[in-house]
Amino acid sequence: MAQIFCIANQKGGVGKTTTTVNLAAGLSKIGQRVLLVDLDPQGNATMGSGVDKRAMALSVYDVLLESATVAEAAVAPERLREAGAGYTVLGANRELAGAEVELVAEERRERRLKDALAQVDADYDFVLIDCPPSLSMLTLNGLCAAQGVIVPMQCEYFALEGLADLTNTIKQVHANLNRDLKLIGLLRVMFDPRITLQQQVSEQLKAHYGAKVFDTLIPRNVRLAEAPSYGMPGVVFDPSAKGSQAFVAFAHEMVARGLAD
Ligand code: ADP
Ligand code: MG
Repeated sequence: MAQIFCIANQKGGVGKTTTTVNLAAGLSKIGQRVLLVDLDPQGNATMGSGVDKRAMALSVYDVLLESATVAEAAVAPERLREAGAGYTVLGANRELAGAEVELVAEERRERRLKDALAQVDADYDFVLIDCPPSLSMLTLNGLCAAQGVIVPMQCEYFALEGLADLTNTIKQVHANLNRDLKLIGLLRVMFDPRITLQQQVSEQLKAHYGAKVFDTLIPRNVRLAEAPSYGMPGVVFDPSAKGSQAFVAFAHEMVARGLAD
């Protein structure tokens, strides 16, 4: 049975997509069968996995509108497989922005992704869903399909405040739509230990959230930022980079923890 995780944070630019593609690659590297679902119309996780979002015949849009199955729409980029990090990608592009409106009048509109993923449950160990930076119908589909939420965050001054909004949303979805959903953990990303404020916020996080803070710390690392322009996760582009090694360590932590909170 697949363990399904949403990578979510309502803020943009906090490292959701970087976390999704590198965790997918890291998990694949250590032998897990992984499906990455891109739920952001920007399609960054799609491109960052080496799939051309403009050339896709089918995407997650078709799956949400029930005109294709996950098996039909997903692709397995060869370059990732050759690098020993062969995960499968259910891609997204701008077309997905329209799904929001088109789903409004549909039945079970927030459960489309959940229903579609049920059909491939036996094919994967992990499903990772990259969410857009908003609480839209798309994010709601992600939260309804998932059992766990992974929240990447930068240790900045307002980080804790934003977190309260997100944990509230998770509680709401848990209460009303998806009893299986829980916050799995907070992942500190783009971390720079030389910055005192970051260390302070990191300590506050641990004080407030205890074991919900993942042990793994993802450092700020330029190789992770460069990798998308080569259509690869950092873990594939430069496996020896500090950031890549941190994501492989995080993959091990996720395998060990699973859905436990
Ligand atoms: P989101 O998906 O939340 O909008 P991204 O993953 O796209 O965020 O990250 C935002 C920007 O920060 C991107 O340019 C990305 O390359 C960069 N970035 C993310 N994580 C790191 C990191 N650990 N070190 C350096 N740059 C990073
Ligand atoms: Mg993103």
